[in-house]
Amino acid sequence: MDKRIKYPIAAAAAAAAVSLPVRAALFREKKQETEPLPPENVDLARFRENLSAAIRIRTVADKNPEKMNWAVFEEFHAFLRERYPLVHEKLELTVINRGSLLFRWQGTRPDLDPIALLSHQDVVPISEGTWDDWTHPPFDGVDDGEFIWGRGALDMKDHLIGVMESVETLLKEGFQPERDVYLCLGHNEEVMCADENSGAIAMCNYLKEKGVHLDCVIDEGGAILPIEIKGVIHKDLAGIGVAEKGYADIEISVFAKGGHSSQAPNHTALGKLAEVIRDIEGHQFKTKLSPMMMELFGKVAKSATYPARLVTCNYRLLKPALEAVLGYVPQAASMMRTTTGVTMASGSPAPNVLPQKATATVNFRIYPGQTLEDVLAHIRKVVRNKKIEVNVLPGWKNPSAISPTDSRAFKEIERICKSMNPETVVAPYLVMGGTDACHYQPICENIYRYSPFRVGTSLLLTTHGTNERIPVAAMEAGVAFFKRYIRRLSAAE
Ligand SMILES: [Zn+2]
Repeated sequence: MDKRIKYPIAAAAAAAAVSLPVRAALFREKKQETEPLPPENVDLARFRENLSAAIRIRTVADKNPEKMNWAVFEEFHAFLRERYPLVHEKLELTVINRGSLLFRWQGTRPDLDPIALLSHQDVVPISEGTWDDWTHPPFDGVDDGEFIWGRGALDMKDHLIGVMESVETLLKEGFQPERDVYLCLGHNEEVMCADENSGAIAMCNYLKEKGVHLDCVIDEGGAILPIEIKGVIHKDLAGIGVAEKGYADIEISVFAKGGHSSQAPNHTALGKLAEVIRDIEGHQFKTKLSPMMMELFGKVAKSATYPARLVTCNYRLLKPALEAVLGYVPQAASMMRTTTGVTMASGSPAPNVLPQKATATVNFRIYPGQTLEDVLAHIRKVVRNKKIEVNVLPGWKNPSAISPTDSRAFKEIERICKSMNPETVVAPYLVMGGTDACHYQPICENIYRYSPFRVGTSLLLTTHGTNERIPVAAMEAGVAFFKRYIRRLSAAE
């Protein structure tokens, strides 16, 4: 090899070999001054008792207001009245759409934008045939000293009762906010109605009519996840949901002549539909690491142990490789693209009848930055059969906007998390499911989805499932977080 080439390469390799350890050593999160915040009074015994009692009230909602079990929601409202007397005495309560509760805690500075804390009172039902799988019955609210068990323990009566606890305690301590503080407790988040029946939409409309613009919103979404990979990383990851995916169920139909199955053609409408499904599944949306995901990756990469950082400090160079590799891991890919799930199909009404119409239903979770229009254009492009009929089912929604990570609210959440545990990595992330938070977009730009409870991944998976439960050990810090959040964010600056 030519010396002129050889030496520069050798020199570059040597420089890289020398500089890599240095880069890896320097590749760390900047130490922030995380002065510990003064301790907060938390009545843990009362929180436990009230969460158990809240779980015992079966607040399962229905899409149709006429089919709602209003009695159970009235019972829940009475329960809150009884357990949180100061909240009901000092805050102004407006009942919206019969089930939603909008509390306004008046601040001393009406010239400033208020803040809002969101929760939903409703819970999902127990799937048929799974009642007996529960260690403790799902609506008993059993507190065995280690966990509080039951539907809503994580989604999201823990959060709702945690907020009520924090406000009741702050009131008792004589705290007075500068900004107005709204508590918006919806009643039908889980049944996904995106119309005027939605408690969240109705509450937002009510605020909008009053001319309210919110400084910030906090709702369910992220949590504190312990991440333990031996020799690589040992940290708590506080994932702050800054955006959520959109949702669309789309029916795609193919037509054919039909007739008696004794004279079947080579391909019936269902056969043709199978080809359509192959086209759709064979052309997944492209994976792309958004700036938000890169920030998440970067923060985690910087928190790894030194040997791991020898690799992770190059995460920006690894971006194309990461995008390609993670595209094959469904859980990771869902964080990076619009997902395609073919979920239902139908043909003719009888086994011996040729279908005149065959329909597949595809569930798309739309990535921020894309819209329903993009999904429809994608279908038209990748399906070779141009005679398909495409029908968007009601209930679709576009992805949310992406909230900034340099806002006062995001920085304060980060500061509170770090002051409570300096070993926490606070990073933005994308919420896969839907929340009520996106309905507040017309009156707020700084919307964050975060529940301040430290819950491992396996426990988080019990949400909407069997044995949903919250560790008692995570509860006190949750209320302390909300108290600090309200103190900080309701302040003028
Ligand atoms: Zn929820």
